[in-house]
Parts: sequence; C-alpha cells; structure tokens
Amino acid sequence: MADLKEGAAPNDIIVGIDLGTTNSEVAAYVGDRVRVLGPVDEKMLPSCVGLTPEGELMIGQTARNQQLLYPERTIRSVKRKMGSTESLVLGDREYSPQEISSLILRELIGWAEVALGAKPTKAVITVPAYFSDAQRQATREAGALAGLEVLRIVNEPTAAALAYGQSDQTHRKVMVYDLGGGTFDVSIVSIEEDVTEVLSSHGDNQLGGDDFDDLLFARFLDVFREKHGVELDKGHAAARARLWWAAEDIKKRLSSEPFATLREENLVTIDGEPRHLEYEISQEDYEAMIRPLVESTLDKVNQALTDAGLRSNEVDDIVLVGGSTRTPMIARILEERTGIKPHREVDPDLCVALGAGILASRLSGHEVERVLVDVTPYSFGVSYLDERGGVPYPHCYRAIIERGTPLPVTRTKHFYTVYPNQEGVNVCVYQGDDPDALRNILVGDFYVEGLTPAAAQNVILCQMRLDLDGILQVTAIEKNTGLSKHITISNAMKEMDPEELKKARARMESLFASNRSRAWDQDVDALDVDVEFEDDDADADSESTEAAVDPEWIQLVNQGRAIQERARLRLPSLNEDDKEEVIDLNGMIEKAIEEEDAGALQEVIDELRELLFFVEG
Ligand code: AMP
Repeated sequence: MADLKEGAAPNDIIVGIDLGTTNSEVAAYVGDRVRVLGPVDEKMLPSCVGLTPEGELMIGQTARNQQLLYPERTIRSVKRKMGSTESLVLGDREYSPQEISSLILRELIGWAEVALGAKPTKAVITVPAYFSDAQRQATREAGALAGLEVLRIVNEPTAAALAYGQSDQTHRKVMVYDLGGGTFDVSIVSIEEDVTEVLSSHGDNQLGGDDFDDLLFARFLDVFREKHGVELDKGHAAARARLWWAAEDIKKRLSSEPFATLREENLVTIDGEPRHLEYEISQEDYEAMIRPLVESTLDKVNQALTDAGLRSNEVDDIVLVGGSTRTPMIARILEERTGIKPHREVDPDLCVALGAGILASRLSGHEVERVLVDVTPYSFGVSYLDERGGVPYPHCYRAIIERGTPLPVTRTKHFYTVYPNQEGVNVCVYQGDDPDALRNILVGDFYVEGLTPAAAQNVILCQMRLDLDGILQVTAIEKNTGLSKHITISNAMKEMDPEELKKARARMESLFASNRSRAWDQDVDALDVDVEFEDDDADADSESTEAAVDPEWIQLVNQGRAIQERARLRLPSLNEDDKEEVIDLNGMIEKAIEEEDAGALQEVIDELRELLFFVEG
C-alpha cells in the first residue's frame, strides 16, 4: 500500500465539524487558510432542534429561542444522549440521538455548501476525549445519516491543540481546559510531531456557563422579590424567560466590562401595575458568585495532572477552549495556580472546529500548520497611582488590552479618583507590559475635566477598543454621569525605534532631573497622575497609603503631581518661553512640596493651571 495516500479524491470536499453540546461549527480550507463557515455574523449553530406550533422543523437559533417557552417541543444537549438507547420525543414522533444530531449536521453541511459552492461529502468530527466506543460509533452514524463519510473521529483536546499549531513543536505536553455552556473537560495531551495522545482527561458534564447564568438568574429573582414583594414563580414563564436571557447577556458583558446593568421594563403586571427591574452588578460581585464553581474545575485540573504523572509546572502550554473561558477570572486563576499564562489567541468557541478543519485540510492535501489569527502584538494600558517600595508611586501601569488578544477587541476597566471634589483626571495611555508605566511607550494622553463634585473614589471607566488596523480608541467615562472624553490613536501598533525611545526618555529625564522628589524611586521622574486605578480583580485590595499624613496635604500634593504630569506631556509642543516657564513652575512645585508649604503650593498650582489653560487653547 506504499503507493496509496490516506485522504480523498480531488473533488471531495472535506470539512471539520465540532458537534458540541451547546453549539456546533463547521470549518474548511478556504482561500489561504482554515475558516469557520456560516452566514455572516453567525458561525455558531446552537445545537437545538425544535418544532413550531405548526409542526415545522427548526434547527439552531430559532429552536433555541423557543426552548424556555416550549420545552416539550425543543431538544437541546442531544450530545449527552449519544450512545444511549434513549429516544427523544419531538411533537408526536420519537427520534434516536443520532437522528437528532444528524439534523444538526445537515444544517452545518448546508452552511458549508453555501460558503464553498459545493456540498461537502466527507468530514472529520470531534468528540470529547472521554467518549466511549458506543458514543463514538453513534457520532459516526449521525454523520452517515446526514450523508457524510466520517473519515476520522478526533478527540476535542487534540483538535484544540492542533489549532494552536502544537504539532510543529518537538515533544510537548499541553493542558486543554475546555469550559463550554454545559460541560467542563480538562485533558493533558502529549504531542510529538504528528502523533498526539490524550494522557489523561477529567471533567464534569454538569458544569458550564449555563450554571453561571443560573446564578445570575437566581440573583435577579431575589432582587425582584425584594423590590416588589412578588415571587416570579413558574406561573410567570415569559418574565422568567426574559430574565434568563438577560442573565446570559449580562454575564457576557461582565467578561469585558467592570459593571453591567439589567434593565427590563414591564416584566409583569401586578395589581394592574407594570413592574420593572433595574439592577447593576459589578464584575467583582459576579466573580465572587461564580468562584466556587471555578474552583471546582481546578480540582479536576489537579486530578488530570496527577493521572498524567505531571506537576503543573511540567506542562508546556495551557490552551483555553469553550465560550465560558472568556470569563477573565478563569485565565487569571489558572495562571496563579500554575505559573503558566494560558493561550487564548484562537477564538475559544471556534478552536475545536478550526482544529478539525486543519485536519480536514491536511486530508485534502493542503499543508496547514496552524490557525492564523489576528492578535495584538502589544499590550495597551494606562498609568495609575499606587504604592511602590512603600511610597505612593504615580506611574504604576495596568494593561487594559493584553498582548495576544484577538482583534478587534473592546475592554473596560474601572478606576477611582484620589481626592474629594477632584475636577479632572489625566489619562496617559501606554503600549507595553512593564509594571512601571515610564518604561513603556506613551502613545497618547488626555485630560477629562468637569467631573461632578464627589467624595474621593468617584468611579471612572476607561474603555479601550483596538481594531485590526491598529486604531486604538480610548474613552474615559465618569460612571455616575456618563461624562466622557475620548481620543483616537491611529498608529498604536507602530513599533517604536528603540534609539528614538531612549533619546526621548533621556530628554524627559534631563528636563526634570533637578526636580526629583526624594521620596520617589530614583529611576524615574517625579511626576504624578491623579487617578487611582483600582484593580478589577475580585481579590485585589488596594491599601491606602495616606492614613498617616494629613489628607488635605496629600490631596494638594496629588494635584501638584497631576498638573506636573499634564505639563510634562505638553512640553514638546510648547514654544521656548512657555517651556521655560513650565520648568520654573515645576521647580517651584517641588520646592513647595519639600518645604510642606501648602499656601505656596496652591498658588503655583493655580499659576501652572492657568498657563496650561492658555497653551492648550
Ligand atoms: P460553547 O459550549 O463552547 O459554545 O460555550 C458556550 C458558553 O459560553 C455559553 O454558556 C455562553 O454563554 C458562554 N459564553 C459565550 N461568550 C461568553 C463571554 N463573552 N463571556 C462568558 N461566557 C461566554
């Protein structure tokens, strides 16, 4: 058989299919790369099959939409039944799990046919690593019923590792952490050239993002009861369905935003009066809610490692799969426990399908190594005030969009003003990963003024959006009022010439060399920002460093530092006279701080503010 090659005749179209519990996808080689196929903006097909009241078949989103209202006419999560002899009732007919799965496969083939211009006849289909022979056989049968020749049944973690191009590496051990809507699986995969082996696999087939939705949903019901004194019980099916959908939406928003607000008008009418529900929840609160569930996945991670005979630091890579791994807490906790930064460059929802697509492409004779994804090569973030070496340091840095994040992306973090009645905040945007902002590259800055008078800790949201063309939009929003200011940085991904960068930094340092405050780290300029950026991590605690000192004095010093920072950023655009005056005033600020002379400090701050007012126009 040496003159035969495994694979397919030239005219066969081979696709890779992820037949998932919650969603299913199909991928194939198109143009120059492997892509997931489907209608525009709709690459994931909900694994749901239903009947309309008129008895018409629905597959995908329409079936999913009706599942809460008409559970008796909807079948979901059929994957859990694969390999069993259970029959599933839909309308007045009974179906085997294979038959229902074949309907989902047919729909996917239809999507692929539209995209490819011809009908696929062969497929690679993925299954969980723990699937028994009977379950694998049932999956083959589903393929056959849909008119497909199933060339390979591939383990999902193997496909995920393939999507990351692991097979071109020498011997590697990859942990695939897969948290979907209804199931959790963790596997350790060993890869050596083209040979992949699942060393161990654990999971919980009753745990997933749906449980996160349920927790939020239960919270909403509690809040409604407290507010209106009414239990939204089973008799209020439509209201419950709306809250359930809203729960998933809020959950997704909390993956990229620090707060999300539920707003449901006219949920029910009680005593002739419409009842609404408005409720804001923070990412921190939400993460505390789901933490026990996330922790329980770590027990399985440990079991998988033990079974593979590995310690966590003996794994080469961690790969995140499944829509629920978009919850930022998951990557964070995994990194904390293992010291390895998980890969999340490939869309976690599509990763398995893309891996199957790679294998399908190779069987069709295309040389495909890995999935090509557009990710940001740099992190972008802002500076904030925190402690460093026991003293307040104004140039701490927090990344908002992390290096390796797929594009386009939008992320928001929240911060707090530092002192009461603070009128404005200076937002300095940097490219880089160094915890010291001054060692990163300043790509832009702006000043938001006109904040409402408030006690300290007025919440300021900082939102960043980075698109494929490297355009970075940064918006700062006062949360209470919606007051916002925004800048667009059009060449954010431009790599700075290191020499240019060194020179610019040296120039800044020499300008301010004589004015350094003794308290700050000797390596950096003694400048300040006036925003205290609170870590969005649930367990982050920011200590106050101001307790021992007069708070009014601290507030004044902060104002001085903030205005210095503003002035520093304006320096390059000033004429020589203004530049000189700014430098003088800056020196006077330092002197007033050193001498702890509040009156003089206030005076020179006002003078510098006035000068900036004129030069900034
Ligand atoms: P999968 O089974 O892999 O398709 O994953 C589906 C699950 O991922 C569902 O529970 C979704 O609600 C969840 N999911 C999708 N997008 C996000 C997101 N941005 N943040 C958190 N969970 C998400």
